[in-house]
Amino acid sequence: MDKLYWSRTRRKMFTQCPRKWYLTYGNLDQNKKKNSHRLRESPWNLMLRAMKTTLLDRLEDVRDGKQWSSQLVHYQLDQAIVQNFERRNQPLDATLRKSLNLYAQHRFTCLWRCSTVQQLLNHTYKQWYVFDRTDAEHIEGITAYCAPDLAIRIQNKWLLVRFDMQGERKTGSSELEANAMVLWSRQRQGLPDSSQKYVLRTIGWRRGFWEVHTYKPNLSSVMASLQLLLHDAKAMLELQRRSMKNLVFAPLANDQRACGNCSFAAKCPGSNNLKEARVQQRLLELAHSRH
Ligand code: SF4
Repeated sequence: MDKLYWSRTRRKMFTQCPRKWYLTYGNLDQNKKKNSHRLRESPWNLMLRAMKTTLLDRLEDVRDGKQWSSQLVHYQLDQAIVQNFERRNQPLDATLRKSLNLYAQHRFTCLWRCSTVQQLLNHTYKQWYVFDRTDAEHIEGITAYCAPDLAIRIQNKWLLVRFDMQGERKTGSSELEANAMVLWSRQRQGLPDSSQKYVLRTIGWRRGFWEVHTYKPNLSSVMASLQLLLHDAKAMLELQRRSMKNLVFAPLANDQRACGNCSFAAKCPGSNNLKEARVQQRLLELAHSRH
């Protein structure tokens, strides 16, 4: 049976450019080891990943009663950035390294001041856990990467927290995506099965601030989230099947901005003139459907 996967990252890429999604995930799942080193990531994304790794490491240490000095924070952020570039075999010169560090340290300092983190530092809550976003759960046949970063017990409820190093504008699906944390948590031993036992919080950097959104899930919002996952996973599988037959018909991006820093731009008809490439693709589809 074909495997279905879901994560917010995959969903975002699929929405922005189905062809890019296919070349990154749809094609890669079979040849992951062989191809992964070839995929370029933007320096910005590598910096965001480094921030996330450092954040979770630091929170783990908070939980274990260990404090980091500001020098250690700087060192860990810097090392995480360097390691991400090395892993991807991408060049990192001194100027880029310095400027990425400045961005990362500024955001990190601001995040550390937010009330959710401060309450953990002040030992306001006795029971809380840090989860790894790469830890998947199996939900209705989907391998779902939608773990919260934190689960904090507050009286008889659990607060599930997700940190988005680069937050996005709130959309109609933001709440449903947040509800996916409940789908994941309900599968975990020790966390409640009832949707009403959770409160959701997303903390994302947007327009120079850490923006906080809180949601109260219920059975219907969690069911709607499940439908979103199922719908996305099936649409991805369908695209994968079609693109494996003929990549020419894999839909291109909706917006030329998605092509910036795309690893596949060199061989993609949409990279220079997306509008023109989309017209050509429609003409090809039309010609193909007549045969
Ligand atoms: S270059 Fe643009 S259209 Fe082509 S795969 Fe990348 S994002 Fe999609």
